Amino acid sequence: MKILLLSFYDLGKQPKIISELYQKLNNGTNEIDIVDYSVEEKSIKLNDYDALGIYASMHTASVLAEEYLRHKELPSKLFVFGLYAKVFTEIFHNFEIIQNLDNEDLESLLNVQLNGEYSFKHSVPDRTVLPSITDYSHIVDGSNNLIAGSVETTYGCKHECTHCPVPIEFNGTFKTFGTDKILKDVSNQVEAGAKHISFNDPDFFNGPKHALKILQALNSEHPEITYDSTIKVEHILKYPDYFKELKNLKMLFVISAFETTNDKVLNILKKNHTSSDLNNAVELSLSNSIDIRPTWMPFSPWTKKQDLPNIIRLIEEYKLRETVDPIQLTIKLLVPKNSLILKNPEIDNYLQEYDPASFSYSWKYKSPDMDKLQIDLFTYVLHNESLDEYAQYLGIVKIIEQHTEQNLLESGDYNQRIVPKLSETWFCCSEPNKIQLERIKSNKALI
Ligand code: SF4
Repeated sequence: MKILLLSFYDLGKQPKIISELYQKLNNGTNEIDIVDYSVEEKSIKLNDYDALGIYASMHTASVLAEEYLRHKELPSKLFVFGLYAKVFTEIFHNFEIIQNLDNEDLESLLNVQLNGEYSFKHSVPDRTVLPSITDYSHIVDGSNNLIAGSVETTYGCKHECTHCPVPIEFNGTFKTFGTDKILKDVSNQVEAGAKHISFNDPDFFNGPKHALKILQALNSEHPEITYDSTIKVEHILKYPDYFKELKNLKMLFVISAFETTNDKVLNILKKNHTSSDLNNAVELSLSNSIDIRPTWMPFSPWTKKQDLPNIIRLIEEYKLRETVDPIQLTIKLLVPKNSLILKNPEIDNYLQEYDPASFSYSWKYKSPDMDKLQIDLFTYVLHNESLDEYAQYLGIVKIIEQHTEQNLLESGDYNQRIVPKLSETWFCCSEPNKIQLERIKSNKALI
């Protein structure tokens, strides 16, 4: 059987799951091709294949896949997997959702025997079937550009934030990957040139003991390698001793979803943190010399005019200008069809039509001022993409100052720092904007 596996975008990382699926499908007789359109350009006749598998990893990937597949003649056997598989089939009804790649669903759809020896929990992915890690997101540290790899210690998440696609599939649960699998996968990537590893776990501290054990083992095996991970504010504050330990284990920075300083919104999103927790998390990170890179979702139906100035004041108070990606300050809530936020009656007054092409509902603010502010900020970033991020941040603050008639920049000199960051700083539960879609499509997002 001839099988084609397609990936469109996985947040700048190698789509490891595709290599694992390759191994699962590789029974000695199947012929399997892989294309990752986030880094490759290939013209392919889809109906030359017997089966097509699409990796719908997240919203942006699904938008790109829809655009690619539109009006194409497809093979007879079609399947989709990943967090957005269900959302994807709202447009492509003829695709079968494969929720669990480790059970017999795929085998019965394709009617071929799979490689029973391959276990997603324990087997080591063969990443050599994917484009090289050098093609994906790098660590940028001043003028240094370092090859980065990625790995997960867990999958799923024990939380149920209402704007996030993860709990829709995992219902507040998570599982761990085998230790040997993780260690060997990282060693293979170090051998391939990685100088840094990103932990892709939705939250690195869902299982903090497991995570630290892995990190300690990695650190003793590869003392020169640095790391980053994503940890929610609640977990940073709940496990301060584990958090402190990260510095000794070469955690370069921690990404943390702050979202907003508006407590009502944080409550609706079920973030389990408050605005004052943000201050505490930043103070803990500063006292331990671990950079926090906050991600934001300032625009939701409940955004108030004072929210943006409050966010900027927090950034200014703790001198975080270099650790905030300016595009983050323009992000809007995304509401896909099965979003948990739809269970909250608070959204009813704002919700509008479902737009199948964008896989989401549109919604509108009570006050048109918020819409105007978001559009002005977004347009600014769109037209100033060539500016460095520090200058973009200052431009954004200026617009917020004009809209709110407040002075927000700290007076006095600001000692601009050079801090390490990933070259691709996208995160999954927000609406992709035109800039990002174009950059991903032209393979420029990962340079
Ligand atoms: S936002 Fe983070 S912590 Fe919340 S459910 Fe999603 S992955 Fe888990």
